[in-house]
Amino acid sequence: MITVCHMYPDLLNLYGDRGNVIAFLKRCMWRNIPVNLVEVGLGESIDFEKIDFLFLGGGSDTEQNLIARDLMKRKKLLSQAVENGLVVLAICGGYQLLGRYYRTLDGKEIPGLSIMNHYTVAGKNRLTGNVAVEIELDGKKHKIVGFENHAGRTFLDGVKPLSKILSGFGNNAKDGTEGAVYKNVFCSYLHGPILPKNPELTDHLIKLALERKGIQQELLPLNDQFEKQAKEYILSKLL
Ligand code: GLN
Repeated sequence: MITVCHMYPDLLNLYGDRGNVIAFLKRCMWRNIPVNLVEVGLGESIDFEKIDFLFLGGGSDTEQNLIARDLMKRKKLLSQAVENGLVVLAICGGYQLLGRYYRTLDGKEIPGLSIMNHYTVAGKNRLTGNVAVEIELDGKKHKIVGFENHAGRTFLDGVKPLSKILSGFGNNAKDGTEGAVYKNVFCSYLHGPILPKNPELTDHLIKLALERKGIQQELLPLNDQFEKQAKEYILSKLL
């Protein structure tokens, strides 16, 4: 049984981010891979060692502040689980919270978990629009699409980028990188939501979650015709 955990589903769920959890669950179910979902809110307890895939979505600065305090209490256990191979997808606000800090426009620093070394500074204008990136998964290159809307500029400070920008702003509108990756933690600014739009990334995360359970398994191919068509369409507009 793969256990999926959606953290703060009521607070971190911008632009349909919950769709990431649904896509992950559905692509397991369609292949008869047993899967279940736990949702964890502020102050609720969770044993990260029992989780295989953890999802943190995006949120506004106000929500980020609330969550930062709650997350900090979980820092040691979550860091340990990450070191032990917990598979994580963190989007936008969630991504920023895994780094050192998020500095708002008025100079206030919301502390992050420092599980990774990146940091984020809010800029005056928001970075918004459709995005296309190139990502490498198991040595194979894929084009990934999504939508971004963030004030934060993230600087990786040595952390490995998740992907290379083909069109859009990405981490900071300067260095051509998008997202970050550390062990099995995947961070991105891409809403969309990213997983339903990009089944190859979803399947990569499912494979990693199975591996964490000690299961090496080739995933049954699914019919991704509609996803592929939608992606081709937006790529033809962007590139
Ligand atoms: N508050 C953050 C920013 O604007 C995160 C926004 C989001 O999660 N979409 O940079």
